[in-house]
Amino acid sequence: MNLVVQKFGGTSVADPDRMRAVADHIARTRRQGANVAVVVSAMGKETDDLLHLASQVSKTRPGREMDMLITAGERKSVALLCMALADLGVAAASFTGSQAGIITDTAHQNAKILEVRADRLRQALDEGKVPVVGGAQGVSTDRDVTFLGRGGSDTTAVALAAALKADACEIYTDVSGVFTADPRIVPNARKLLHLSFEEMLEISATGGRVLALRSVEFARNHDVPLHVRSSFTWELGTMVDKEDLSMEQAIISAVTDDASEAKVTVAALPDRPGIAARLFRAMADQSVNVDMIVQNVSHDGTTDISFTVPMEDLDTSIEVARVLGPEIGGGEVSADRDIARVSLVGAGMKTHPGVAATMFETLAREGVNIEMISTSSIRISCIVREAQLETAVRSLHEAFKLEG
Ligand code: ADP
Ligand code: ASP
Ligand code: MG
Repeated sequence: MNLVVQKFGGTSVADPDRMRAVADHIARTRRQGANVAVVVSAMGKETDDLLHLASQVSKTRPGREMDMLITAGERKSVALLCMALADLGVAAASFTGSQAGIITDTAHQNAKILEVRADRLRQALDEGKVPVVGGAQGVSTDRDVTFLGRGGSDTTAVALAAALKADACEIYTDVSGVFTADPRIVPNARKLLHLSFEEMLEISATGGRVLALRSVEFARNHDVPLHVRSSFTWELGTMVDKEDLSMEQAIISAVTDDASEAKVTVAALPDRPGIAARLFRAMADQSVNVDMIVQNVSHDGTTDISFTVPMEDLDTSIEVARVLGPEIGGGEVSADRDIARVSLVGAGMKTHPGVAATMFETLAREGVNIEMISTSSIRISCIVREAQLETAVRSLHEAFKLEG
């Protein structure tokens, strides 16, 4: 019998009606003759609510206790979904990440899966039950409860699909697939029927939160094809797999947006070997996740270095730069929270010149100033003012004729 892993995101189980609708969906998949293992997220905005609650109670918020708190959201979901399945006559059993054998490292709030010991899930499947596993959680090598980070339920689903050697991994969400842009910003965005892991990695890394980046990395590394689809309909969604169809595909697949980073500038650094090395080693030592880096042309032997970091790493990175700056002969440190990144992703751009030129011309026509640029072989990103992000996304979507 085929085995399907089905993951349902927060909106898909946001209220009792949606929870029952998901149970119906699972029951129907079973009637069609497949075995099902389920991964479910916390209901609606529950994860945000728990994070907010913690910030009202505590300033220190120790990681171990944060993980115990946040994973409670998914724990509620698995229990309720199993009850709804029982009402439909479907035998199901709920599992926390720990019970499901998801072993992680000890990095609280952003733990990585090291291993999946899936024997309890296999046993449940052998007994004809639907195992329902709490997403985004596991147990650490120190035997503490861990949270895999925002969007971590996607990773749980992929890891289980790999461990159980499932025939399919379906990610159900509130949109019917991966679109040429976030449909919330571009209402006439088009659903993409197929994407390679490489394209999806770039989309996830640059703000397309429909699949969490780590889940796509895991899927690529373990060759788990993904099907992103709507939990509200049965229509086919987007297939993401190793197939590279770039020869036949459009040059650009998607425009992405990301307003979650901030920019730090360290002015007047000496322009000599070892300065950037010391600055970014100091950032790395504090686990600051540096993204784009630009070093200006040197005048009088000094240069400015600007880089982007996730908003949550901003305070740490400023502190590191202020402490280290004078030691390495640097000047003023400044921060800018009002930046955003707009990116074009497409495997076809490898073989088509002129994509960058058209991107920059389009932004220029809209009066959008480009502050930083970075590229990979299948992506171009520009840092712009956050207030102009939506204009930038819409104009690029139109210029590259991506609409449906
Ligand atoms: P879930 O709770 O199911 O995990 P998420 O909110 O994490 O759902 O992801 C789905 C959301 O991703 C959509 O509602 C959509 O606004 C957003 N999104 C951003 N970029 C894209 C894109 N290119 N295609 C589809 N959805 C996108
Ligand atoms: N509920 C968690 C979050 O909102 C994990 C997940 O749904 O993937 O990030
Ligand atoms: Mg998600």
